[in-house]
Amino acid sequence: MRLDKLLSHSGFGSRKEVKQLLKKGQVAVNELIVKDGKFSVNPDRDNVRVGQEIVSYQANVYFLLNKPAGVISATEDKREKTVVDLLKTEDFRKDIFPVGRLDKDTTGLLLLTNDGKLAHELLSPKKHIEKVYTALVSGIMTEKDVRQFKEGIIISGGEKCLPAELMITSVDEEKKQCTIALTLVEGKFHQVKRMVAATGNKVEQLERVKMGSLLLDDELAYGAYRPLTAAELSALK
Ligand code: URA
Repeated sequence: MRLDKLLSHSGFGSRKEVKQLLKKGQVAVNELIVKDGKFSVNPDRDNVRVGQEIVSYQANVYFLLNKPAGVISATEDKREKTVVDLLKTEDFRKDIFPVGRLDKDTTGLLLLTNDGKLAHELLSPKKHIEKVYTALVSGIMTEKDVRQFKEGIIISGGEKCLPAELMITSVDEEKKQCTIALTLVEGKFHQVKRMVAATGNKVEQLERVKMGSLLLDDELAYGAYRPLTAAELSALK
C-alpha cells in the first residue's frame, strides 16, 4: 500500500499532515528516509518509522458515528449520500461498512468498521444484542402497549416480535404526542416504526442511542464520528 495511506491510517494525521512529515524527512522505511507518499510499502514486512516511533498498521478500524437524517446506511449509492461518504479522506477505506441499517430518516448510533467478524457477532439473530431507540411518537402510547410489547407484539405482515421493553418517557396530552425509549433484541425491517404503528400511533422521529454495550456519544454532532476507545472496543468484543 502507499506510504502516505499507511501513515494516515495509523494515526499520523490527515494526508496533508502526513505529506508535511514526509517532506521534513521524518519518515523512514527500512531505515532509509522516504519523502514520496506514493512509495509502496508492505505493512506486514517493512519497518516504517516516524522519528523514533515505529508505525504499527491498524488492520481494523472502528468508528462511532452519530448518523444524521438524510443519508443512507450503505457503502455506495448512485443517487443518495451514504454513511461512508461522511468519512474524511484520511479515514476512508474501501472495506468500511455500517454494522446494520438505520432508515434514511433515523439518526444516532451507527458503528462503521471493516471488521466483518465483529459485525457478524453484533448482527447475528442468535445473539440477541440489545438495541435501544428513543422516539417521538404522534399519538399517546399506554400501559397496554407496554404490556403488549413485553408479550411480543404482532406487526404488519403478521410477524411476531420478540419481547421488547417499552418505556413511555413523556406524554403531551395537548399536542397528542409522547416520547418513548424502546429496547429490542432483534432487527426486523423498520421494526420500531412497525411496532408503534401496530398500536395505532406513528413514529415521527427516531434515534438509536445504544447497541450492545456501545452508547451514542452526546459530544458527537450529527454527521460526526470518532474512533472507538480501547475500553469501548473490548467491551463490545
Ligand atoms: N426501526 C426502524 O423502524 N427504523 C430504524 O431505522 C431502526 C429501527
